[in-house]
Amino acid sequence: MTSTPSAPTDTAALRAEAMAALDRVGAAVPAPVAGHPSVTARTPLTGADLFPVAAASRDDVAEAVGAAHAAFRVWRSVPAPVRGRTVKRFGQLLEEHATDLAALVTLEAGKIPAEALGEVQEMVDICDLAVGLSRQVGGRTMPSERAGHRLTEQWHPLGVVGVISAFNFPVAVWSWNTAVALVCGDPVVWKPSELTPLTALACTALLDRAAAETGAPADVHRLVLGGRETGDALVRDDRVALVSATGSERMGTAVAPVVAARHGRTLLELGGNNAAVVMPSADLDLVVRAVVFAAVGTAGQRCTTMRRLVVHEDVVEPLLERLRTAYAGLPVGDPREPGTLVGPLVSAAARDAMVAALEAAVADGGEVVVGGERVDVAGAPAAAYVRPALVRMPHQTAVVRRETFAPVLYVLPCRSLDEAVDIHNDVPQGLSSSIFTRDAREAERFLSEAGSDCGIVNVNIGTSGAEIGGAFGGEKTTGGGRESGSDSWRAYMRRATNTVNYSDELPLAQGVSFG
Ligand code: NAD
Repeated sequence: MTSTPSAPTDTAALRAEAMAALDRVGAAVPAPVAGHPSVTARTPLTGADLFPVAAASRDDVAEAVGAAHAAFRVWRSVPAPVRGRTVKRFGQLLEEHATDLAALVTLEAGKIPAEALGEVQEMVDICDLAVGLSRQVGGRTMPSERAGHRLTEQWHPLGVVGVISAFNFPVAVWSWNTAVALVCGDPVVWKPSELTPLTALACTALLDRAAAETGAPADVHRLVLGGRETGDALVRDDRVALVSATGSERMGTAVAPVVAARHGRTLLELGGNNAAVVMPSADLDLVVRAVVFAAVGTAGQRCTTMRRLVVHEDVVEPLLERLRTAYAGLPVGDPREPGTLVGPLVSAAARDAMVAALEAAVADGGEVVVGGERVDVAGAPAAAYVRPALVRMPHQTAVVRRETFAPVLYVLPCRSLDEAVDIHNDVPQGLSSSIFTRDAREAERFLSEAGSDCGIVNVNIGTSGAEIGGAFGGEKTTGGGRESGSDSWRAYMRRATNTVNYSDELPLAQGVSFG
């Protein structure tokens, strides 16, 4: 157990800070009603409860989906570039209120200010991207085999999009979905994590304002607060055309069959178990910097957090030594203290899961090289601060193949690139991956069809910190969804194939002659 001089402010001050930020963005906190569901806004900075917030019952969810569905009938026929104006205004408001939004992200998710501001910037960036898309979503023209015929495809708005988001990116992932869905002509009903209701209220207030100022229907976005029960109501509503759900593999396993049974669409962004491969030619200085950011940033609570390091036996000892030194000096504490790089875990349960994973790793023959201890932060006895752990494993065991949502990095030895790729791919998840090498042939093999099986494959950078311009998502139990840039917008639209006959004949496809 270690101590730091970090000194979080008391609960009354944190409440006042939250209220002031909400006030500045124009958001009100709905007071709980007796006999009605509620959630508790809380902060991992101290582990304290801040205040109760009214949540949505199943009936409330049905009402919100109904209103969004009615808005769809209007919004779908608004020209896409005009829809883009609402998203453009929203992006401007996000930029104006970036400091307040980032403060709320720090308060509710425990991120250091630089990462919280980065998350807000992601929202601004996706708005930019979506505004551009609003003039580009379109289909192709294919050559018809029949004379005097035109074969084209059109992309139409899909319908109501239900967005379920996770605590660790309380606003960015919602904005990836929402900015793109809105320009595609789809209203959104958002069920944020029950752990982050305040950031959701703040962003919703700004989007409501953007909608009002640009003449969009008020119900083009609706917020439904609550936990699993509220999410389940959204998932089961057959007026929700697409359920875009971000969270644990467990959540995806519960949600996917329900939506499939009603023939709805899902876009799943689930857990990762991301690894980097380090080959002998790698620049170890660069590796250490990249690994530390990817493995301990956001206290190991990113879907793209680096959780496994597969290192060639020729460089495993020098690399471990450098990492041990870097880990031993990591500043852990209140993220608002200048210099802190590692803030709190979201809950005591998350810390218990980390402790259990370390015990299992040791029982499997692993050695904790550094870290894993609880860190006591002054004034925050109920918070869950930990020192990130580096664990040397003889081979990949069950605990390594699971995602533990905490800063634990397992170091696994390998003797060749082939063996490294086998170890790399031998986990259920398939989100993000990277290789560190100066050998172009090794890099290309890792990028090839016989290399990494992930949705994100990097060379000489870590596994986290994706740009919004690319499609984001992963394979296998990560769910197969793609969000954000590239052609991810297609998930939010339906495709119609159109054949137009402008001749005086009626030739049939495949040369079929009929009577
Ligand atoms: P979680 O699964 O506990 O909750 C995520 C969301 O799903 C919450 O809003 C929750 O209320 C809701 N939910 C849970 N069960 C549900 C059900 N049966 N029906 C409907 N809704 C339900 O996840 P978390 O702890 O908030 O977030 C951490 C997890 O999210 C990690 O596994 C992380 O890897 C993953 N994640 C993935 C991505 C990605 O893009 N792949 C991004 C962020 C987080």
